[in-house]
Parts: sequence; C-alpha cells; structure tokens
Amino acid sequence: MFEHSFAERMNRLGTESAFAIMAQANALEAQGKSIIHCEIGQPDFRTPRHIIDAAYQAMLDGYTGYAPTPGYPEVRRAIADYVNAHKHISADPDGIVIVPGGKPIMFFTMLMLIQAGDEVIYPNPGFPIYESCINFVGGTPVPMPLLDKNDFRVDLDAFKKSITPRTKLVILTNPSNPTGGAFPESDILAIADILRDHPDVFIMSDEIYDRLVFEGNVRSIASVPGFQDRTIILDGFSKTYAMTGWRIGYGVMHPELAQRVARLQVNSNSCTAAFTQIAAKAALEGPQDSVEEMKAAFIERRDWLVKALNDIPGISCRNPKGAFYAFPNISSFGLKSKEFCERLMTEAGVSAAWGTSFGQYGEGHFRLSYATSLENLKIAVDRLAKFTAKL
Ligand code: PMP
Repeated sequence: MFEHSFAERMNRLGTESAFAIMAQANALEAQGKSIIHCEIGQPDFRTPRHIIDAAYQAMLDGYTGYAPTPGYPEVRRAIADYVNAHKHISADPDGIVIVPGGKPIMFFTMLMLIQAGDEVIYPNPGFPIYESCINFVGGTPVPMPLLDKNDFRVDLDAFKKSITPRTKLVILTNPSNPTGGAFPESDILAIADILRDHPDVFIMSDEIYDRLVFEGNVRSIASVPGFQDRTIILDGFSKTYAMTGWRIGYGVMHPELAQRVARLQVNSNSCTAAFTQIAAKAALEGPQDSVEEMKAAFIERRDWLVKALNDIPGISCRNPKGAFYAFPNISSFGLKSKEFCERLMTEAGVSAAWGTSFGQYGEGHFRLSYATSLENLKIAVDRLAKFTAKL
C-alpha cells in the first residue's frame, strides 16, 4: 500500500481512454491474442522522409540545446505565414507559441483563462482532455451536445441558451474527434453571430484535423471579422504530417495571450525540442504530396468502412466529413458503449474506444479509428459483424 495523500485537484483530472485501451490491447496481444487496433488516433503512415532528413540535419547543425520558450523566430514566422494563407487570418509571429503537441494548448488555455466557477462550453462527445482540464482548473464544464440526429452538428438554439454571464470560453473542434463530423461554414458564422453579443467570451478553436477534410475546407472562426483577437487556435503537426511521436504543435492567439502561454511553458517544459521545430518548418515549406496521399487513403477507407458498417444489421453510421474516425450508432444492441467495446476487444479481438469516453452524449456509439490499413479494417468489420450477430 502507498500510504500518502495527494492534492485534491488530482481527483478532478480525467484521462484519455484511448491510451489505456491501447495498453490493454497490447497486453492481450502479448498473451498471444490477435487484436485489430482501431482505438488510437494516429495516422498509420511514416513521417515523410524530407521531414526526418531536416530533423537529422538540424541535429548535425547544432539544434540540440534549449530553444527560445515560445519557439524559434523563423519557425514562428513560417507558422504565421502558413496559418495566414491556409486559415485566411492575419496572425503575427508574436502570437504564435510552439508547444510539444497540440495538447498543451488546451491545458495552457484553461490555466490562463479559467477561474473557479467560470463556465466552459465544450463539444460532447469531444476530445476528453477538454473536460478533464476544465474540471482540473476548477471551471464548470457545460456540454455542447453533438448528436447523431443532427449529423453531429451544433444545435444553435441550445448553444445560445447555454451561454450565461459566467461563460468564459467556448471550445470548437472542426472537424471533430470522435464523430468525424464537421461544422459547415454556415454553422461557424451562426456561432459567431451568437458570440458577437458576448464580447468577453474567448474561443479555443481546435483545428488539428483541418487538413483532413474530405470535401472542401472548414472555416476557422478566427477568420470571421472581429474574432481573431478572441480566438486561440490549436493546431499542430501530429495528424497532418504523421508526427504524433515528435510532440510538436502550436497555438495562434493575440500576442498578449501568447506571452502568458509562454510563461506557462517556461514554468513547465521550458521549450519545444529544437530540432523538431526545424523539421516542422520543413514540413510546412516542403512538398505537400504526402498530406494529399494520406487524405486519399483515408477517403478510400472511409468509403469502404461506412458502407460495410451500415451493412451490419443493427448498426448505423454517418459519413464522416473529416479526420479519420467513424462513430457508429450501436444503441439498438441495448448495451452500454463501454461494455460493448470491452466485449468487442476480449471476445472478438477488435480494440475501439467507447462513446462515453468522449463524454456522456457519446452513449450509444463507439469510435473506430480508420488510421489502419484497409486489410485490417476488413478483418475488424468481419469480427464486428460476427460479434454483433451474437448479441
Ligand atoms: N485535438 C484533437 C481533437 C485531437 O484528437 C488530438 C489528438 N488525438 C489533439 C488535439 C492532440 O494532438 P497532439 O498529439 O498533437 O497533442
């Protein structure tokens, strides 16, 4: 027994179940069980070679020490140029903070803005770390339900009603994890219209999947006139360039906010690894073919998977518009999503994340990551069909 007590705040910290599910799946595999991994959200592609070469060269060139806390000026400039062109905004390099992955922007944003009792409206189902961080810093999480019946789009009336004088921050994820849904431009404009009446509310716009949109583009709320200064964009390299393990991402925000985020960074991880920053610049400025190839592979898998899922009696699945997740509806089987996924793993050898690990509105669903080969997906769907036939 470990007979020590912990700070009370630790009781308020949640987790990202996909990592625990992956560990459990790996343990079962180590015992000789065959598992198809559909739980974790990372591209099954290698980082493009020219990015690896740039990191290696950077190490040889001496980029092996501490870097400036907010990031190298030339890399912040390259990111500003990229976001300005891609997201149609006018970011200043002083408003860019380079961090180890997209995730720290969530944590730093909450630490910077949220006081006890402040309300944060966040997508539910959504990335679980939002709710975890809101609770951790003493804020009050206010769900923005993203429901199957609305094609996982926001219910604008409900959103409007959920805003109170205590609302401090609204989180948007576009396209979304875990639903694969995307808000069309009209929804972004309607959300902006509503928020125009609440000028003190900040927005954290998680755009980490915005290069993985299958038809057209998504619109950043920061590009809506009057909204850039109130928006903190979270973005990074993990998904677009298959760089999850490199741990590099960034926030785009007003320079006054950036200084505070940098202060949080110097108090925690000092800076983002030097050579990865140089490699990230090469990613933005080099050939983009690999991004397009990856997207084409995801579209091919999505098209196959969604049809195959809808062919299974009892399952219905919306067509994902971006990212690399399907969020099938399994409510007809009458099992809690957690039990469904636990049994799917142990009885059928498919690991996937249950809907409620993304919030209570995820009940009745589970998330299948199709960041795995078509061959694996075919085995997974075959196992799923045999499993559900027995329920
Ligand atoms: N936002 C969303 C919506 C995500 O799904 C993820 C990763 N799964 C992240 C942010 C974090 O990305 P990173 O690995 O770069 O920290």
